[in-house]
Amino acid sequence: MWYNEGMDDDLASKWENSYSDDARVLTRSEIRTLFAVVAEHPEVVSLAGGMPSLDQMPFAEISKVLADVVAKRGAELWQYGTAQGDERLRELVLDICKLEGVQANKDNVVLTSGSQQALDYITRLFINPDDVVLCEEPIYVGAKGIFASYRADIISIKMDGGGLIPELLEKTIIEQEKQNKKIKFLYTVPNFHNPASVTLLVERRPKVLEICKKHGILIIEDNPYGLLSFEGELYPSIYSFDYSEDSEFSNAAENVIYLGSFSKIIAPGFRVGYAIAPSAICEKLVLCAEAATLCSSTNSQMTLVAYLENFDWMKRINLFRKSYKERSYAMITALEKYLPECTFEVPHGGFYIWLKLPEGVRSDKLLPYAFDAGVVYVPGTGFYADNRGAEYIRISFCYPNSEEITAGIKHLKSAIDNYKKQEALK
Ligand code: PMP
Repeated sequence: MWYNEGMDDDLASKWENSYSDDARVLTRSEIRTLFAVVAEHPEVVSLAGGMPSLDQMPFAEISKVLADVVAKRGAELWQYGTAQGDERLRELVLDICKLEGVQANKDNVVLTSGSQQALDYITRLFINPDDVVLCEEPIYVGAKGIFASYRADIISIKMDGGGLIPELLEKTIIEQEKQNKKIKFLYTVPNFHNPASVTLLVERRPKVLEICKKHGILIIEDNPYGLLSFEGELYPSIYSFDYSEDSEFSNAAENVIYLGSFSKIIAPGFRVGYAIAPSAICEKLVLCAEAATLCSSTNSQMTLVAYLENFDWMKRINLFRKSYKERSYAMITALEKYLPECTFEVPHGGFYIWLKLPEGVRSDKLLPYAFDAGVVYVPGTGFYADNRGAEYIRISFCYPNSEEITAGIKHLKSAIDNYKKQEALK
């Protein structure tokens, strides 16, 4: 059992006094709890998870290359690899990132077990307790968990439909500086944000970079959804505005660490993500990887190399895009039909809708009504560092099919109606 519910009190508290200070802040994620509940109730439509659609995963191609790679490279496949990761895969990563203007040398790439691990390493490298991490409001729940586990002071900055607002970013920085706070980095998800779904306007990107450069703040650009725009458009990364051929260290950008992942464009089960970082930081990341895992899965990395070299991965990404576009359309249509009093930014890519509930409805209190009506979502409070956000929910269209999505939104309407009736009785 991974969480306390139902656990004997004595058992739960047995090691309480032995935990480190960092471990004390580790708490159960609402999303994981929901997964556990939904797994036992398959009749409930889950709009909670962020799992990619199974329909478009390239299972046939993967099994083909897997057989081939075992036959040809078996000895290496099952052996330890380097902490930095397979050299050929690092080159292929750069081919993918070039689409968004990322230029670097393969020596600037570190492969990790998902980009989640890269974020953990970066936080370990930079954060002492109470150091400030700037981030967007709302914040990706997995990043919040990491920053909290290193006891960072998470300072969030409101967004509008065009993502981070540069003027507000600078105002926040100045306020923190006045309090003598140490701001270590800005964490941003510029494309198809999780959970807010917004994309940082292209004209704001160089401004965000300039502000951070001026104040000596590193940018962590987390971009797992950038290739999943519904219409196929690509946005230049923040990283691309920082790269200069004539820079003193021309191998990579100097003020941005770019994070990417194969989770959403091929399959998360590979657990392969990557960080592209300035050389000195890259060296430190490799040391972190050595200390944490010796190396991440050679098996996954080599299978990915074979897949990327032998199949048209862009065609596969286009299938994902098409499928997510259809599903998002089903969700938007159902929301307009059944829940016109709820508001949201229309997504142009990615996995999520960040839904503002009708006046007076609290997402945490609504959840039991939703479960009874046959649907679950993630309450907005999960995406705030200080438990605000109860007026929002995150609903995802990535995993359920269009019919399930429509049914889920209908159930959500019944839940809201029941909630309002019950609350009126109180
Ligand atoms: N960043 C964001 C914004 C995400 O949504 C996710 C996954 N949900 C990750 C990072 C981590 O992805 P992975 O570790 O699978 O690469």
